[in-house]
Amino acid sequence: MHKKRTSRRKSVRIRNFLRQQFVTLYYHPYCAVCDRPVQPPLPSPFVCRDCLSVLPFRMEREQLSWDHPWRLFATFYYRDPLRKMIVSMKFSERIDRAEAIAPFMYKTMVRHKIDVDAVIPVPLHEKRLSERGYNQAALLADVIAREAGISVVDQVLFRDIYTDRQSESLTVEERHRHLADAFKLNNKSPVISELCGRKVLLVDDVLTTGATLSAAAKPLDEAGLHVVCMVASSDKDKYRGYREILNDWTTLPQESHSARQRQMMRDTMGRLFYVGWQGCRTFGS
Ligand SMILES: [Zn+2]
Repeated sequence: MHKKRTSRRKSVRIRNFLRQQFVTLYYHPYCAVCDRPVQPPLPSPFVCRDCLSVLPFRMEREQLSWDHPWRLFATFYYRDPLRKMIVSMKFSERIDRAEAIAPFMYKTMVRHKIDVDAVIPVPLHEKRLSERGYNQAALLADVIAREAGISVVDQVLFRDIYTDRQSESLTVEERHRHLADAFKLNNKSPVISELCGRKVLLVDDVLTTGATLSAAAKPLDEAGLHVVCMVASSDKDKYRGYREILNDWTTLPQESHSARQRQMMRDTMGRLFYVGWQGCRTFGS
């Protein structure tokens, strides 16, 4: 009996060893950031050690404040090399980038003890989806859900309003107004009543003004779901170093500079006039 168990363990060990050798021999992983082939084991899925050290993690600034009632988290700052990864994921069909980015979003979930029952990607409008062929938020949501062992719910929320490139350059207020009722729920879906009163993670790739994400959260919240928002990246509450602040000061627009000079001149004239008037009152009498 004992002998039998020992030989079974031995064969499992041999099998695992052979599998590992096979993987090493035939599977050549590459880094999803720099595209160079790397030797396994990788420190993180699809990201080599060099690139891992330059990814712009938000670290202790993962929880963001905004003007909406839902908790909001972002894993990265929106700057290179992550910005390039997201741009290529969106526009150059590098859908494999989601496999590199989303596991870190899952780690944000774990760090902040975000316990949810389902993941919902922020949907694209039908027209944009057919142009692009895929939804980058859904790619991220798939990986997060897989890591967390929960399901993705992608047939309940729809984007009703198409946003063209021009409307993306609107101001913050205009964008909020434009997108206020951009998303609708498929109320016929039984999934909505199943998720009522439960926590869901609403996922998107980038947060800029927050107009899209908050507009998508609204109908879910109204249907009784407890929404937690998460994006891969955002430059909100960005840490600004001394050099960046100094740069802002030295590149002030010309008008505001001359406006300040005019104001200083007015102040000086006012003070001179006051001193003169005081002098006249004292010595004139
Ligand atoms: Zn790399």
